[in-house]
Amino acid sequence: MSADSPFDYDLFVIGAGSGGVRAARVAAGETGAKVAIAEESRYGGTCVIRGCVPKKLMVFASGYGRMAEEGRAYGWDIEEKGFSWDTFKTKLEAELDRLEAIYQRLLDGSGVDKIDQRATVADAHTVRLADGTTRTAKHILVATGGRPVKPDLPGAELGITSNEIFHVAELPKRILIIGGGYIGCEFAGILNGLGSQVTQFYRGTQVLRGFDDEARGLIADEMRGAGIDLQVETDVVKLEKDADGIRVFDTRGRETVFDEVLFATGRAPNTDGMGLVEAGVELGRGGEVVVDDFSQTAVPSIWAIGDVTDRVQLTPVAIREGMAFVSTVFRGVPQKPDHALIPTAIFTQPEMGTVGMSEEEAILKAGEPLEIYSTSFKPMQQSFAGTAAQKILMKLVVGKQSRKVLGCHIVGPAAGEMIQLAGIAVKMGATKEDFDNTVAVHPTAAEEIVTMRNPTRTVGE
Ligand code: NDP
Repeated sequence: MSADSPFDYDLFVIGAGSGGVRAARVAAGETGAKVAIAEESRYGGTCVIRGCVPKKLMVFASGYGRMAEEGRAYGWDIEEKGFSWDTFKTKLEAELDRLEAIYQRLLDGSGVDKIDQRATVADAHTVRLADGTTRTAKHILVATGGRPVKPDLPGAELGITSNEIFHVAELPKRILIIGGGYIGCEFAGILNGLGSQVTQFYRGTQVLRGFDDEARGLIADEMRGAGIDLQVETDVVKLEKDADGIRVFDTRGRETVFDEVLFATGRAPNTDGMGLVEAGVELGRGGEVVVDDFSQTAVPSIWAIGDVTDRVQLTPVAIREGMAFVSTVFRGVPQKPDHALIPTAIFTQPEMGTVGMSEEEAILKAGEPLEIYSTSFKPMQQSFAGTAAQKILMKLVVGKQSRKVLGCHIVGPAAGEMIQLAGIAVKMGATKEDFDNTVAVHPTAAEEIVTMRNPTRTVGE
């Protein structure tokens, strides 16, 4: 920063989640900008503290019961004495402390000023801190993320959200999960695997709206097969405190008592009381910050990245938006974050990995007939064990004329790992013949993705 700058900082970042931390430390550490970051809660944000990371560790924890059963079938003498939530929770909390400390060290190492307070926008170049003081900055980056929301219904306060599930004193014996999105379906599998009796209500006809129909159908079947009482076209009307737990009244006219109710009914951007509208920043209907392709708001000195902009709510996307912002503003190389063909995983049980268009989306948008290649089979590992095997699905949506693989959908163990690699090919514009020309890795489940010779069906001719 030049000595005669009228501002305290070149960049003031509000929110130390994945996107904000990356932008702050790259701007400070690699471009020499004078940077501050304000955080009212814990460093690391949703992903590290109350999202992806603890969730994935819980997914791992929930898988060992099934693995022990399989191990015995393979000849191992495993005595299973059950799962201790206390042991896991203590270790989880220590791990989150460790990760938070790493985030803080990275910021310190880059020379970023950490301000452990809530900050709001006072005007185009000023932020106000909770202690009443203000700081000025040439650029303000809003990276305040989002939060889970509960529907407005009587007794909603009796239920918890994904923020609290990691901290419950004991694992609920009977839990109701409301919502059929990413979070609802992931926690249904986790809690079922850890031994809770899980009921899930979804108001629509099939969970995981927006994903490939065949994939979501298989996941729903397998969730039910694993013991989750998944009830579709069912919603909650009200909740009441009951001597024995929480009494839930549903849209089918029933009353059921649960120990815990988890609302996984979506997330809202953290823009309330942030002073954004007053400063001239435009907000969308859901309260999200409206930005252009470069993440700039209606106020040229105020930028926004990550979940608060409600573009694609994924950590790696927020990080890329942060990096593109630094390139645009501090390196003088304008860069638009690329939101096309983002591979993603949903850590349901079975897991799903997906990139590109679902069959249903491609029918509407591809502009050419489609060849659908789809295969479903039982994995070798569980078939041998003779234990309940969740089916694997491998599916390619191919443009019949362009030959391009427009979508790849995998359901099964390690689908997230597989889709990361398949995602490179799809992002490069690989054709079905490129897949076919790749030699199979044998014996793996993934080899099916290069050995599906004949279309299962042709659509749109
Ligand atoms: P989603 O939008 O995915 O799902 C919300 C669910 O709640 C939907 O099934 C929705 O139904 C339902 N719902 C919404 N409002 C109500 C209501 N008033 N009453 C009853 N049901 C309701 O949100 P999540 O909170 O699950 O996840 C938020 C985002 O976080 C995801 O979109 C994703 O980007 C990200 N995420 C990513 C993960 C990953 O990458 N593995 C994991 C977790 C989250 P309907 O379908 O009818 O709208």
